Amino acid sequence: MAQFDETFDWVVVGSGAGSMSSAMVMRKAGKTALVLEKTQFVGGTTAKSGGVMWIPNNRFIRADEPDESAEKAITYLDAVCDDGSDAPGTSHEKRLAYVNEAPKMLEFIIGQGVQLERAATYWPDYYDELPGGCKTSRCVTAKFFDLNELGAWSKKIRPGFAPFPAKLDDGMKVTNFMHKSWSIKGKFARIAARVVLGKLTGKSWTTAGAALQGRMLKAALAAGVEVRTETPVKEFILEDGKVIGVVLEVGGQTKRIGANLGVLVNAGGFAQNQAMRDKYMPGTKAAWSNTPEGDTGDLFPEIEKVGGVLAQMDQMVGYQTSYAPGFDTDYVKPGGQGITGKPGAILVDQNGQRYLNEGGSYELYCQRMLERNRTVGAVPSWAVFDQRYAENYKVLNLWVGKAEKPQKLVETGYLKVAQTLEELAGLIGADPAKLKDTVERWNGFVDKGVDEDFGRGNREYDKWLGDPFHGPNPALARIDRAPYYAIDIIPGDVSTYGGALIDAKGRVVKADGAPIPGLYACGVSTASIMGGVYPGAGASVGPSMTFGYIAAKHAAGVENQDF
Ligand SMILES: Cc1cc2nc3c(=O)[nH]c(=O)nc-3n(C[C@H](O)[C@H](O)[C@H](O)COP(=O)(O)OP(=O)(O)OC[C@H]3O[C@@H](n4cnc5c(N)ncnc54)[C@H](O)[C@@H]3O)c2cc1C
Repeated sequence: MAQFDETFDWVVVGSGAGSMSSAMVMRKAGKTALVLEKTQFVGGTTAKSGGVMWIPNNRFIRADEPDESAEKAITYLDAVCDDGSDAPGTSHEKRLAYVNEAPKMLEFIIGQGVQLERAATYWPDYYDELPGGCKTSRCVTAKFFDLNELGAWSKKIRPGFAPFPAKLDDGMKVTNFMHKSWSIKGKFARIAARVVLGKLTGKSWTTAGAALQGRMLKAALAAGVEVRTETPVKEFILEDGKVIGVVLEVGGQTKRIGANLGVLVNAGGFAQNQAMRDKYMPGTKAAWSNTPEGDTGDLFPEIEKVGGVLAQMDQMVGYQTSYAPGFDTDYVKPGGQGITGKPGAILVDQNGQRYLNEGGSYELYCQRMLERNRTVGAVPSWAVFDQRYAENYKVLNLWVGKAEKPQKLVETGYLKVAQTLEELAGLIGADPAKLKDTVERWNGFVDKGVDEDFGRGNREYDKWLGDPFHGPNPALARIDRAPYYAIDIIPGDVSTYGGALIDAKGRVVKADGAPIPGLYACGVSTASIMGGVYPGAGASVGPSMTFGYIAAKHAAGVENQDF
């Protein structure tokens, strides 16, 4: 018989998105639950994220749009996810489990006191043109949150990137388009007033992922979940083929914790582990990732040791970024999506040739960059835009085309500026004739209103990424006013997307599909249940929360009860 230092019913490794949803299920079922987090902060990449959850058929969209349904959602996921042999993480059964359980999970956490709202009325699915695709929004986020509500735990939430009292969607509008609209200026004024009031009243506001994880932690603690930081789990304890506990390290000592009903691995991915990246996704760098330091994939070898299978390990949730000054030190690296997604900017490879739709999912964008790089230099690629663009949109939060042109960016060689496209090609090492030809071809498409090469601007999401104040197509504008500019774009990421294969109950399975008793996993510790596709904003946090919830219901034997 195994000996333990302590025993709980449910032990969660890592404080990711599914950790607390699962632990709260256990508490509601009258069981004990422990969350073990290896870093000093609770919340994982989830706390650093936008905190957006892609939850089809949720209560908020249903209230606004009665035609939203589980049928539409599964039609969409079946159309978008490829069931090919390179994506064994996904299957119709798992997608259906997601579509059916995600709205229930949402109701459950709202019932636990977690305040949520529709992220926006307009944040389309990333493949909205496919059957069942949504052209409005299936995205849900937490309401902004005062960290002081966590009392002694207030400093324990991993810092987010948006420490302000505003909806993320409003924050994005203010950042990008305040100069274009009085209504957005009004939003800014209201946010600024809340900031001032918050300072006067001692609030510690946060929004996005930190608000989500802050609210989840508050609810979990209130439900009696035990949460411990700086407790890295090292291995699983196996008895007669069943996972019955974990070994962890605390203060230089090892401790054995028993888990009566099961262990849930919610320990994130391996984006910060360069050796694993070299093995599974060569040519990518940990330094390009926005994930926090704990995302080192420690548990993957342990999962294999107990018979689990890793899959889709070459997949990441790519997020295009740029080697801008500050790249190495910035908490969140400069986002390239907002740059080439705006009308009047295109992406070219090192020859000066366009090769993708600059709109669309960031995950697909980075996949395309890496694919292209196998035949033509495309890492880095170049965002190319003109003076009109530079006067209309900020680049790296700077007006590079306005009077206060940041000479430093030019002097350091980062921002390339030239009076002609041929000269710009010289600065980026591209073929001058090719770059000129590419831009002329692009301008022809803009004049016709159709990108005949890559269909940019056809789908609603491309338009969402563009400029709502620009027409006729918000994603298309000519590049024809000197000077011309270029900055590099590289395929960064916000997570890896491969890991343990699970079944529709969240159980880790062996090569023959049989579940390993006592071992569950969720989030990016698993081979994504979306396969190698990112269907919409929140397609990582939503599934992590939901499969944590599904796993705990299964382990507690309350699958058929109303939770
Ligand atoms: C800037 C940014 C914005 C993003 N925006 C969104 C968004 O809006 N919506 C979305 O869906 N996705 C978004 N993503 C991606 C998303 O945040 C991640 O894919 C997701 O949060 C992963 O969640 P998880 O539950 O799998 O684990 P995580 O949230 O990463 O948590 C895993 C935790 O496990 C801990 N851990 C690791 N090993 C051990 C161990 N051995 N013992 C104990 N603990 C361990 C880690 O320290 C970590 O705290 C964004 C990411 C970033 C960086």
